[in-house]
Amino acid sequence: MQRILYRLSTDFRLSIITLLGASAVLGITPFAVMRFLQDNLLAGLVDTTILLGICGGVVYAWLTGDTRRSGLVLAVTACGGAVMVGMVVGEPGLFWLYPCLVTTFFLAHPRIAIVLNIASVLALMIHGEAFRSSIQMWTFAATTVVVSACAYVFAHRNHNQRQRLEHLATIDPLTGIKNRRSMDQELDLAAANAERTGLPCALALLDIDHFKKINDEHGHGVGDEVLVDMVTLLQQNTRKSDQLFRFGGEEFVLLLSGVDGVSLKAVMSNLQQVLRKYMTHPGGSVTASFGVAQLIHGESVESWLGRADTALYEAKESGRDRIVFAEEYRPASSARSRPGPVNKQAPAQ
Ligand code: GH3
Ligand code: MG
Ligand code: MG
Repeated sequence: MQRILYRLSTDFRLSIITLLGASAVLGITPFAVMRFLQDNLLAGLVDTTILLGICGGVVYAWLTGDTRRSGLVLAVTACGGAVMVGMVVGEPGLFWLYPCLVTTFFLAHPRIAIVLNIASVLALMIHGEAFRSSIQMWTFAATTVVVSACAYVFAHRNHNQRQRLEHLATIDPLTGIKNRRSMDQELDLAAANAERTGLPCALALLDIDHFKKINDEHGHGVGDEVLVDMVTLLQQNTRKSDQLFRFGGEEFVLLLSGVDGVSLKAVMSNLQQVLRKYMTHPGGSVTASFGVAQLIHGESVESWLGRADTALYEAKESGRDRIVFAEEYRPASSARSRPGPVNKQAPAQ
């Protein structure tokens, strides 16, 4: 249940699809039953087809998570269905088109929604039999334009605001990289992926050495510049598939997929060399300490991160400007004392 609520609260299009599905079941079922009872077989079949199409789209969205495709199917089904109802039952059926014209903008791309809305209204106007007079037909056309325009503006603003909020919630404003909040999700995803594919996955926790001193001696502005330079250098010297996050303050997490053993050591050593060579501030060079942990099969993200943290602590304790590789994971029963790092790499002279 919690998972359902979580998906509804985080996936806007899925919530609209579900709402449309629930409304369709509650709103259309009584009409479908009534039309069968009144021996209006065609109208009853149209209602049933719309219901099945919408329910199919909702189930598909929940099972696959592909809300783009199911949203499109639902928009087409709802508009097509409303047009059919208008053609079969006449004037009373026209009212069903209004909610459909609004929801298309939340279910499909705006351009597709506009085409769908225009096509639906035109189809009813060309068919013409649902209208009592041409005045009524043109009034219908004008009101559908107003409804569509309002829905477009609302959906467009809503989309932009959601994107801005998502950006604010996931991106670190100083460095432009993902923040800790997105890191939690990405680590979960990477661990699940590694578990499924069996491919290696490692994370490096990186902490700038004596950063407080840089701030104290040269000001916060210089400290900020060091953070930005550090991110630029790390990004320039890692693969596009590697992900960098700001863990907090002057700590970063680098998520590396598909490397282990010797290659992982080579990557980390190269990063350390690059930082030593190019990271400077007005008072001299800037170094960093690294705690690196490879994900072990069956290990939780918490434990993975914990081992990297312990390794980083060890790197600091043993003199800074070091890379320490965490020792392997121990099962919970034997993990009373925090696992310590075993594989230390002394700084190159
Ligand atoms: P260590 O070598 O043990 O890591 O020492 P340190 O000085 O780097 O670590 P410490 O945790 O003592 O200090 C981190 C400093 O980072 C303290 C904090 O004011 C500063 N800091 C955190 N976020 C920012 C930021 O966004 N900009 C700047 N300029 N400083 C920041
Ligand atoms: Mg720190
Ligand atoms: Mg530090």
